[in-house]
Amino acid sequence: MADRLRIVVLKPSKYMPDGFVERFRRGFMPNSTVPYISSMTPEVVGNMPVEIHTLDEYVHTDLQYLSLLRRETGGQTLLALVGVQSHQFHRALDLAAQAMKDGCLVVIGGPHVMTCDTSLLHGCGVSFALSEAELIWAEILDDAAHGELKPVYGQEKRWQQELQPPVVVPPLKRDLDRYIIPMLGLYPARGCPFVCNFCSVTKIAGRKIRSQSVSTTMGSLRAAKAGGVTTIMFTSDNFNKYPDAPALLTAMIDEKLGLKFFVQCDTQIARQPELVEMLGKAGCFQMFVGAESFDRATLLAARKGQNRPATYHEIVRLCRAHQIGAHFSNIIGFPQDTEKSIYDHLAELRSMGPNCASFYILCPIPGTEQYDDFLAEGLITERNLDRFDTTCLTWRHPNLSAEQLQTLLFTCYSRLFSMGHLLQNLRDLKYRLPGIYGQCLSTIAMTAFNRYSAWTRVHPMSGGMRRVKLDRASDYAALRSKSYGFKLAPLPRSLQLHEHENTIQRMSELNAMETVSHGAFQLKRD
Ligand code: SF4
Repeated sequence: MADRLRIVVLKPSKYMPDGFVERFRRGFMPNSTVPYISSMTPEVVGNMPVEIHTLDEYVHTDLQYLSLLRRETGGQTLLALVGVQSHQFHRALDLAAQAMKDGCLVVIGGPHVMTCDTSLLHGCGVSFALSEAELIWAEILDDAAHGELKPVYGQEKRWQQELQPPVVVPPLKRDLDRYIIPMLGLYPARGCPFVCNFCSVTKIAGRKIRSQSVSTTMGSLRAAKAGGVTTIMFTSDNFNKYPDAPALLTAMIDEKLGLKFFVQCDTQIARQPELVEMLGKAGCFQMFVGAESFDRATLLAARKGQNRPATYHEIVRLCRAHQIGAHFSNIIGFPQDTEKSIYDHLAELRSMGPNCASFYILCPIPGTEQYDDFLAEGLITERNLDRFDTTCLTWRHPNLSAEQLQTLLFTCYSRLFSMGHLLQNLRDLKYRLPGIYGQCLSTIAMTAFNRYSAWTRVHPMSGGMRRVKLDRASDYAALRSKSYGFKLAPLPRSLQLHEHENTIQRMSELNAMETVSHGAFQLKRD
């Protein structure tokens, strides 16, 4: 038996269309799973001391870290590839094959393996984590300490009933420095009560909203501040559906933490003015809202009936009133879309004037209902999972070609981030960024970056600035074929929920109706 356990928690990047691994000199947003898993890891497993390394491959601009992926004499190495989405799956498999060749144990977890059938690969040597990490991490560590992993973990149950998360230990300064601002992602609540057919959140985290205690989140915030973090990204999908949001915000205000933060809300925030006011007081500098479309019929077809485009103006107004930047997320390329409808959408968005906006091409993400429907209808044309990243067309659109949609995508960016939009943002400047010069500079930089990205046809939300090209898919092609027997992983079937999980989903729908009508902010249900 080995005398020490090295654990490498790694968020893999993806392969770009030219085959290179996507990497940036400076990242925008750190991955939140990596520090979370690291914080859940004890210092000793069995009698073995643990040495832990955390890596976000997107911001590693040399390949030194790959030297960690080998077993050393007398020690055991466990590579945990975390937060793996479908477009990162090939990269995860390649790193897994490389690490296994060099004697490591490997487990892959994250949205893709939780929601898609990976049984074709069970028994290839790599393990798959099909549930939330809290349910299985201790067992994986114990097995790693004994030198052998099971092919699959968490097959029986996808979600933990009650969250008991750790206080998150922030990354070291050298890792924070890899990002434009020292930021930490925290996840105070999980789950979403809605059923948008293009979204995998309800398959990954369920429809029941589960939250951690306010004291745990406050502990993580204090640790983050002490560790040099200045900005928090609350990664919960609907911060406005989190029942303890008022309590958390009150605690942050009372303690004068002085951390800036970013939240994601659904569009029903339009009818929660008290919450928006609290968010502003607590230090929220940007609210990301899934507007997606201004066309009610399109929203209904996507099962996003909770969005009422007539209320979008109110979100911008409320955010502006409380010095929060409104960031609208938009999807182009819904089945109903035409070139004209996308230009109409853009015109409406510009008239509304959110401080920021991002645009994505509709992508049937494996594991979602939309993916199942498109697959059954034979609509999916793309065979390479690397491309399922919402920046390109992967299916046969009835009205638009791939090239048209790409052009429309970048046109949306260049037209939205106009000189007029910049001047309006400069007029609005009261965001909680340090000093007026810093605010002006970051506003100008945001416009310039979005325009430059549109001009160079690189998606601005790729995750960072200044791409670095090092290794590429072809470096791993032979090993992938040998390890897994394919060049490209076949498009997977979605994993079905267990019956008891379907029951939880149905009960959550009823609870959601209750919460929406009697919740802390007296929402009315759409
Ligand atoms: S509201 Fe947002 S998180 Fe919830 S299902 Fe729809 S897109 Fe997903």
